[in-house]
Amino acid sequence: MPSIQAQSEQKKQNGLVSLVGAGPGDADLLTVKGHRLIQQADVVVYDRLVSKEILALANDSAEMIYVGKKLDFHFVPQDRINQILVDKAQEGKHVVRLKGGDSFIFGRGGEELETLAENGVQFEVVPGITAAAGATSYAGIPLTHRDHAQSVQFITAHVQKDGAEIEWDALVRSNNTLVFYMGLKQSPHISTQLIKYGLAADTPCAIIERGTTQKQKVFTGTIAELANMAEKAISPSLIVVGSVTTLHHKLDWFTPNSNDE
Ligand code: SAH
Repeated sequence: MPSIQAQSEQKKQNGLVSLVGAGPGDADLLTVKGHRLIQQADVVVYDRLVSKEILALANDSAEMIYVGKKLDFHFVPQDRINQILVDKAQEGKHVVRLKGGDSFIFGRGGEELETLAENGVQFEVVPGITAAAGATSYAGIPLTHRDHAQSVQFITAHVQKDGAEIEWDALVRSNNTLVFYMGLKQSPHISTQLIKYGLAADTPCAIIERGTTQKQKVFTGTIAELANMAEKAISPSLIVVGSVTTLHHKLDWFTPNSNDE
């Protein structure tokens, strides 16, 4: 067995990409492992939703590369990001690829790892707290609850032009909490489809804006009101549908201090 030092030397020669989930907003929700790897990184390649407190953990000498993306406005195309990761690792660097939330939940982490695998680059994955878990916890909305919901689904509302349409009929089963990512713009469509496929128009829902941050806001209403609620919210926001959202009023514990950045 080579010593830990020799192993880390070996990794250094070959390069390594650590795919790290940064969590949903509150920097304290970063994992201990993610924290340590960011401090050790030679290169940090990061997205728009990663907080500046987390970026500040990187070593002063680390190279910081921003590849942020916004809906409908891609600053750096995905294949260019993939290439940056391969190139930096092949220079023998330890690269931390930092993404908001969890990299495997609507984060395209899988695609990036496929390119690394195809190029023989060593990688590891550090999970993060996904927005659905973080934002609902801070909003006092349990995703499941024995009296309300026995299952939960995470859905992307941002469907590619040539991608598959959401299977609405499968979503509208009772006792199912639905969490829509990237749904603000699509909320009129989400509302119409859920009602059309059989959910009662007065089914409760919530929008959690900038969840877990000091600017968190929670809007509650019914799915018939969703489009109006969405007009007041800004990105990033999650849409949560189901009777668990009524617990927000009882279990709300987090008081953001919106003066704080
Ligand atoms: N990989 C991320 C999701 C990236 S998709 C994760 O696991 O959380 C981006 C979407 O995530 C946003 O459009 C929004 O719907 C949701 N999101 C991310 N951070 C959020 C936050 N702090 N509050 C509410 N929604 C958030």
